[in-house]
Amino acid sequence: MDLELSGKVALVCAASKGIGRASALALAREGARVTICARTRADLDAAAAQIRAETGAEVLAVPADLTSPDGVRAVVAATVARFGGVDVLVNNSGGPGLGSFADLTDEDWRRAVETVTLNFVRFVREVVPYMRERRWGRIVGIQSSSVKQPVEGIDLSNGLRPGIAGLMKAIMPGLAGDGITINLVLPGRFLTSRIAPGAGRSAEADRALQEELAPIAADIPVGRLGDPAELGSLVAFLASAQAAYITGAVYQIDGGIIRSNL
Ligand code: NAP
Repeated sequence: MDLELSGKVALVCAASKGIGRASALALAREGARVTICARTRADLDAAAAQIRAETGAEVLAVPADLTSPDGVRAVVAATVARFGGVDVLVNNSGGPGLGSFADLTDEDWRRAVETVTLNFVRFVREVVPYMRERRWGRIVGIQSSSVKQPVEGIDLSNGLRPGIAGLMKAIMPGLAGDGITINLVLPGRFLTSRIAPGAGRSAEADRALQEELAPIAADIPVGRLGDPAELGSLVAFLASAQAAYITGAVYQIDGGIIRSNL
């Protein structure tokens, strides 16, 4: 299937590692020009070099802290200056901190709102005018299985991420008339450095980590953690011309870990 992403401009947030990097790689493989951003320059440059080497795509690496409004504006401005607009936004984040309700302070909640909620709000607000200009756009939000079912020990995520689904649904009709779709992807458990330090360095290392993490995988019907490349493929499809009739939807990609009916 031709996803018709060749030449499209994709901005992928929090993309020096893990799910963000895999999404950028999948889009670059389909011919998109890609902006990636994260805070640590060395990791970002390494990811950009890897994506260029594997795909031949044009990659712009912009160091930025996505919990600040200036960081978000800087990434969008650099993308527009280099590529002339934004066609695809993959709104990913570093994720909120861990912790259970009783241990979380107001400051933890404020930081998590910046990381999860305002990151989504600010990026969507910044990119939509460029998408409206072209009457075409794709917004894919990376959230978590916690949107559908609480995950023990991550109450910041349990508390905030379902609200993104509500907001996504609320703003979807106002975008649809301009050819802009907006959808969410809900990862279950993926083999990334968030879950296992050192993940994503090599295929052999990842195989060894999968074995070490067998006790976690025991709860997952498919029997293993997800490979970020599997999530990248879903993101690339949702970003494609072929997904024009899919909007306001949430897609779990979780090896079966979510047990709710819907
Ligand atoms: P990861 O491998 O740790 O990668 C996180 C990426 O985010 C890195 O590139 C990191 O680079 C960047 N980042 C962190 N804080 C940032 C900030 N303030 N500004 C800009 N970039 C920032 O994590 P991941 O597993 O791919 O997770 C990505 C998202 O998916 C998170 O929101 C996570 O909660 C969610 N998620 C993951 C899983 C899973 O199983 N892995 C499951 C459900 C949901 P720097 O640190 O250099 O900035």
